[in-house]
Amino acid sequence: MGGVEDVEPVSIERIIFLGPPGAGKGTQAGRLAAERRIVRVSTGDMLRDAIAEGTPVGRQAAPHIDKGDLVPDDLLIDMVGERIRQSDCANGYILDGFPRTLRQAQGLEAMGGGPPSGFLVFDVEVPREELLKRLSGRRWCPTCQSTYHVDKNPPTRAGLCNLDSTPLIQREDDKKVAVARRLAEYDERTKPLIGYYRDRSRFHTIDGYRPADVVFGDLVTILEAGR
Ligand code: AMP
Repeated sequence: MGGVEDVEPVSIERIIFLGPPGAGKGTQAGRLAAERRIVRVSTGDMLRDAIAEGTPVGRQAAPHIDKGDLVPDDLLIDMVGERIRQSDCANGYILDGFPRTLRQAQGLEAMGGGPPSGFLVFDVEVPREELLKRLSGRRWCPTCQSTYHVDKNPPTRAGLCNLDSTPLIQREDDKKVAVARRLAEYDERTKPLIGYYRDRSRFHTIDGYRPADVVFGDLVTILEAGR
């Protein structure tokens, strides 16, 4: 007794959220992370934190983000590589907003993420018209990065974050010109990842045009079924 066969296998979940801006990746990834106790790695949040702190990464990323362009691949690959090598990611992690290009996907494999077959990939799909409504009505707390929507998810007190009462703002990249640019970047550079992962990973298309709770239920069902 006491051999390796007695040891409970630890299930290591590495999850990727694909999908256009406004599809609800952040909301779903955040909830999954909290309820399943898996570390969430949101590159958008990391970059915005870096900007707020005025780090060299933040200074390099800011002009790209404000315009709605993707930040250069090398910067992202280094940033995520460093993050997923930290000990809290040893039992898995949820990537929210990364990879967004084929180079980043290949970078992820090389930096220790391993082959795509080891990933569970959720591609969250939402019609374009709905994305535009979601993004233009989105409001953001610069202190804790919570997001709201003026109609669909307003804060309890108008214009103030429920968690820390910070006045909410519209992110520069949620303004009209930047939104158009982000969607174009998605179509051109991120969408090809669907074909890449569909054939290589445990891949699931998720209809994101439903209430958030229903979408979340689907994710949990897939996760629990180990599909
Ligand atoms: P998000 O909050 O995920 O929509 O990210 C906000 C912005 O951060 C994006 O519009 C990009 O400018 C930048 N960004 C986040 N993740 C990436 C990534 N993987 N590659 C390039 N740029 C990124």
